[in-house]
Amino acid sequence: MVEARAIHKHFGHLHVLKGVDLKVAEKELVFLIGPSGSGKSTLLRCLNRLEDPSSGQVIVDGIDMLDAKTDINKARQRIGMVFQSFNLYPHMTALGNVMLALRKVQGLGRAEAEAKARAALARVHLADRADHYPLQLSGGQQQRVAIARAIALEPRVMLFDEPTSALDPELVGGVLAVMRELREDGMTMVVVSHEMGFAKAAADRVVFMADGLIVEEGLPAEIFSQPKHDRTRAFISQIE
Ligand code: ATP
Ligand code: MG
Repeated sequence: MVEARAIHKHFGHLHVLKGVDLKVAEKELVFLIGPSGSGKSTLLRCLNRLEDPSSGQVIVDGIDMLDAKTDINKARQRIGMVFQSFNLYPHMTALGNVMLALRKVQGLGRAEAEAKARAALARVHLADRADHYPLQLSGGQQQRVAIARAIALEPRVMLFDEPTSALDPELVGGVLAVMRELREDGMTMVVVSHEMGFAKAAADRVVFMADGLIVEEGLPAEIFSQPKHDRTRAFISQIE
């Protein structure tokens, strides 16, 4: 579903990704961990071309994301992304925020956009909050609106970059629960997060990155309990 090959990324003199290969199968949940600055966010951003890799190849759902002939705006619709900050429009209701992408990006008419937006809000258990403005919602609810906004576009893969890091602890569970439901519905997902409990319960594979390279990957139980590399061991012992 997603295949990144030999991805390099430079920011000026800084060599941030040093030849990353990552394959994500359909319906797989890959959980990406690693020290701050190791390149996790940059890698996610290269997958949907929020950043252009300096070299390498990115294939998503059979589409070459770096090919000049690829309609990148269309290709990006196949990839949903959720960030730490929800970036909702404060002057629009939850429904309005979700409808906006459907109207602008997909060009849907009002009625169809509203029906799809309401269905997406129902999937994140916010059907009864459709008419609330972001400030009238908790952080966890706002993040679920952001998830609804992404899934309303029916992406083939969802990328999550620390989706719960900005939330009060009591709000984290609701967002993770929605992510687990998405996974059970068969969504292909790449998740960067510190929620190791979620990884143990829901990840098919854990990928450990350090210094712009994938150091080690495997089943959650392998990576968390029996890491092979010193770097991984040191990181795991720090976070648990
Ligand atoms: P964290 O866990 O803190 O989110 P990360 O693994 O996501 O870290 P990245 O955000 O991918 O790390 O950053 C990797 C490196 O690239 C860092 O040294 C960062 O400072 C640098 N970097 C990221 N984006 C840019 C940019 N737009 N311009 C210059 N340097 C950047
Ligand atoms: Mg990051």
